[in-house]
Amino acid sequence: MSGHLLDEQTIAAIRRHAINGRSVTEIANTLGISRDAVRRAVDEAGIARRRHLEPPVRPRQDVTWMEDAACTETDPELFVLEKGERATDAKTVCAGCAVIEDCLDYALVNNERGGVWGGKTEHERRGLKPRRAA
Ligand code: SF4
Repeated sequence: MSGHLLDEQTIAAIRRHAINGRSVTEIANTLGISRDAVRRAVDEAGIARRRHLEPPVRPRQDVTWMEDAACTETDPELFVLEKGERATDAKTVCAGCAVIEDCLDYALVNNERGGVWGGKTEHERRGLKPRRAA
């Protein structure tokens, strides 16, 4: 398959794979399309509107909670902090997010660096333990 336009069936398949935790590379290989095409489709579906909600490195990890992430409705740049930038706006979104605990757990289990996860900055996540063992 080539070109920028993907049919609806392919887009649905990409979305399903991404929600099930398949990596961009895995999805691209499975469906025989470019990684760029996968990234675009995932982004357009609102699954990975920001860097830290991209499909996880660990294949098949449960990431269904991402479907309820409040941040997919907001500016993704709020959650990626530049040096010295305050996290106030991102934390306000997280405070009203239904999956705040899953998000924090995910960041702790995967040792995510940078940005705001589960209402906490990288600095604030240091030393915290996930609720469940990895
Ligand atoms: S807790 Fe914050 S960063 Fe995590 S999914 Fe919710 S809004 Fe996004």
